[in-house]
Amino acid sequence: MTLDLLITGGTVVDGTGADGVRADVAVAGGVIVAVGQYPVEADAARIVDATGKVVCPGFVDLHTHSDLTLLSAPEGRSAVHQGVTTTVIGNCGLGVAPLAAGADVGGVRAAVGYLDLDPSVDWTWRSYGDYLDAVAATRPSLNVAGLVGHLPLHAGVVGFDDRGPTPHELDEMTSLLADALDAGAVGLSTGLMYAPLTFARRAELVALAEVVAAHDALFAWHLRDYADEVLPAVREALDIAAATGVRTQLSHLTAVGRRNWGSVATALDLIEAARDDGLDVAVDMYPYLAGNAPLAQRLPAWAQAGGDAAMRARLADPGAVARIREAWAGDALGWDEITVNSAPDAAVVGYTVTKLAADRGTDPDTVALDLLARFGNAVSMVAGGRDAGDLRAVLTHPASVIGSDGQALDVDGPTGQGMPHPRSYGTYPRLLSEHVADGTLTLPEAIRKCTSGAARRAGITDRGTITAGQAADIVVIDVGRLADRATFADPRQYPAGVDAVIVNGEPTIVYGQHTGARAGHVLRAGTKDKGQRS
Ligand SMILES: [Zn+2]
Repeated sequence: MTLDLLITGGTVVDGTGADGVRADVAVAGGVIVAVGQYPVEADAARIVDATGKVVCPGFVDLHTHSDLTLLSAPEGRSAVHQGVTTTVIGNCGLGVAPLAAGADVGGVRAAVGYLDLDPSVDWTWRSYGDYLDAVAATRPSLNVAGLVGHLPLHAGVVGFDDRGPTPHELDEMTSLLADALDAGAVGLSTGLMYAPLTFARRAELVALAEVVAAHDALFAWHLRDYADEVLPAVREALDIAAATGVRTQLSHLTAVGRRNWGSVATALDLIEAARDDGLDVAVDMYPYLAGNAPLAQRLPAWAQAGGDAAMRARLADPGAVARIREAWAGDALGWDEITVNSAPDAAVVGYTVTKLAADRGTDPDTVALDLLARFGNAVSMVAGGRDAGDLRAVLTHPASVIGSDGQALDVDGPTGQGMPHPRSYGTYPRLLSEHVADGTLTLPEAIRKCTSGAARRAGITDRGTITAGQAADIVVIDVGRLADRATFADPRQYPAGVDAVIVNGEPTIVYGQHTGARAGHVLRAGTKDKGQRS
């Protein structure tokens, strides 16, 4: 057999958690065909010398928001440069499909403004299958699997008001969800802090979870709260898991606000108890002590009702503003822990709300209310108030995997501007350098959480290990040079030490440079990926 690619001389850390072994990796037809010792005269079209380096599976990012950025910039640079070869989009309920026949598409687009960094991207789809076709048509540089976002599903059928669906509307939602899963979505995500999902009741969540369970797909939860009410929020997700048997993922498990530090260990105890009861529940996290979300997430749910325009209009009502200020008075997170990282007004980007207030000679609540009234869901924040001990607890738990919660960004394009959270550039190099060097995780266990561990949560079985028969998604890392160079102050920096990234057998990063290869596949659940792009 003539090989397309032979990676020689490296230490293979195969993604199962096993220790590294010295081996060559042979690739033909986009698939790993052998792992072992090859003679130097082996007949290969291309040879990569990995002597002194680690060869591991490409990273499977279980938690991303690249739903629209990949349509703007399919090279997926900020992800691929880290070694990500598969991205799971549609998290936190924030998808872009399906859109019901009667959907207010403009309203949905405004509500998911967090994803929408390039206004020139046309929304050409209605069904989930059409959306996946649109992604495939861009020929992305990395593989893409998609969760259905609860937000477009709910808002497209029920709208933006504080009410649950009628029986007829619930039928329409479950039928759209079933169609999306039949079209290849790998699951459903909800985000109960994002209006109008803040208004989702138990009956709706149970009905949707039953459809997901019937497809043996994944139900991923951005919980209803990650601060003072994080434990009730975990119990809510576990209750739906118990009621329906759905495979459940608690996304980016953390506890926000100093007075809630330590809650992550309690949450993990609840999850372990559920697992002991036979439920398939796991968690994911990114290795940072700050998150990124729309600033509107700070508003009480009632203040977000009605959609983006209604929310902004409400902030002109003195009575509503007084109630919001009252709610904020008891908040677990301080304005000095919240930095504006994206907004249509570049003058406010990069500063804490406290700093902006001092500069304007006013109070932080007033600044936040002004930003929300002017920009609505188009202003986002980096929010701290997290504990290193909580992060360590979740990273070391056997049921945790890694998800960046970032986006594939293009530093030279519309998606790469401003001050993104550095996780979009540095999650994997950071985990595999800093959190291995400090003894939090061994390298093989850290790699497992980034590869097979994450792939199996998404139901992807033919990727995630360096084994004959698996798709040839491979990363070559110079561990001695591996470094995350993206910081909160200067986030748009590719890492060092990710020397080669192979996607479906195609060299996509070579000597740390993107080759322009666009060999990614759209991975549709229920179909064995045979390499088709559609
Ligand atoms: Zn989220």
